[in-house]
Amino acid sequence: MIAKKALGLPLKGLRFAIKSGDTFVKNASIQVTRFKTRFDENKAKNSLDEMPVAKRNYASASEQTELPTDVDSIDMREFEFTKAPINWIPATILVATPIAAAIITPWYLFTHQVSAPVWGVFGAFMIWTGISITAGYHRLLSHRAYKAHPIVKNFLLLGSTFAVQGSAFDWVSGHRTHHRHVDDRLEDPYSAKRGFFFSHMGWMLRNYPSGKFDYKNIPDLTKDRTLQIQHKYYGLWVAALNIGAVAAIGWLLGDVWGTLVIVGLLRLVLTHHFTFFINSLCHMFGSRPYTDTNTARDNFFLALFTWGEGYHNYHHFFQYDYRNGVKWWQYDPTKWLIAGLSKLGLTTELRTVDDTTIKHAEVQMQFKAAQQQIDTVTSSGIDIPHAMKSFQDRIKFEYDAFTQTVEEWQALKAKTIELKKTEFADRLHEVEDELKQDYAKIEQKILAHNSNLKTAFRSIGESAKAA
Ligand SMILES: [Zn+2]
Ligand SMILES: [Zn+2]
Repeated sequence: MIAKKALGLPLKGLRFAIKSGDTFVKNASIQVTRFKTRFDENKAKNSLDEMPVAKRNYASASEQTELPTDVDSIDMREFEFTKAPINWIPATILVATPIAAAIITPWYLFTHQVSAPVWGVFGAFMIWTGISITAGYHRLLSHRAYKAHPIVKNFLLLGSTFAVQGSAFDWVSGHRTHHRHVDDRLEDPYSAKRGFFFSHMGWMLRNYPSGKFDYKNIPDLTKDRTLQIQHKYYGLWVAALNIGAVAAIGWLLGDVWGTLVIVGLLRLVLTHHFTFFINSLCHMFGSRPYTDTNTARDNFFLALFTWGEGYHNYHHFFQYDYRNGVKWWQYDPTKWLIAGLSKLGLTTELRTVDDTTIKHAEVQMQFKAAQQQIDTVTSSGIDIPHAMKSFQDRIKFEYDAFTQTVEEWQALKAKTIELKKTEFADRLHEVEDELKQDYAKIEQKILAHNSNLKTAFRSIGESAKAA
């Protein structure tokens, strides 16, 4: 930011902010991401409760979203979006920094030598600030997916502040609203239904109605003293880290300007946009192996840039899991960090979704895909090929069997809950082995449905090729 200022770019808002620490504190903390949720206390309370997976239905998004029924009120609110006032400070920062980075960085690299230690700090800070957002703001604070030792929590909090994405209160409140109202044009702060630019960064440039919140959905955070301090002095922290600390490191490395350009400006812009990809591209490109009730996608390439958050379809369906890339082979360094720290006792109570539930969601989606294939062929009006007819029969047979497995599974879960409640509770360990075996049987059955489906798909794939 100093680089831009020194070069005389007309960053009025930013210059003003740097000059006046106190004003910056107030303005930045209020305005950097100025959301206010519209839902009442009751809804806010509900937003913190995870819906038991067994009770989820797989209805379409439109069936699950609570939209105002009054058409006039929707029109009125849409109108409010078109005339939303500009959010000057974030708008200035978010527009000026990428332009400045795009001009200054190549020019600087062309005309100056940047030493290896400066590049080393750049790499380290890319990792620190990026992963602080994913492991800190996101999985720890927004979803409470694990518990962290104060050392870890504060380290991630400092990195998140360095990343300049708003205070924890603002970020988490907006993110919980995103999950609760995902894709809703009026309620989701970064609704993908408003297009790439809006979901990427446009939502921060203006004071949109969906971007206003009152922190009622973060009661667990607002009573946290450290987070209160971070929120209150947010602007000062941001300036101290991004300008003060970066310049000091540059001085130690003997290259203040090079460090400001590479570690300050370039790192800030890249971290910003890699995070923004999660709200934009991760809701546009990729597969939907777990649910199609929202636009979130799983995308390996985006996981590379987002420290594992590219597996966004999984995350939207099982949001309290500390993993986003749930398969062992999926690239999720945030998961590896959290799991690694747990070996040292620095993170605890890592929350996961059990394998059977995950596989159940996948199989459910495969049935949907099979049904779509059948519908496409049968609706074309032409004679259905023999292979497709037998595929249809297999799917129907398998689906009946699957429904029965799910019923058995639900009954087993109900029995477990009942046992825990009753006088058997203290003797639960006596039946535990038996229950474990029953659960293992269900898991085996679901895995068998999965492999039968794959075989069925292969059968039409092979016959299509043969034809
Ligand atoms: Zn999302
Ligand atoms: Zn999330």
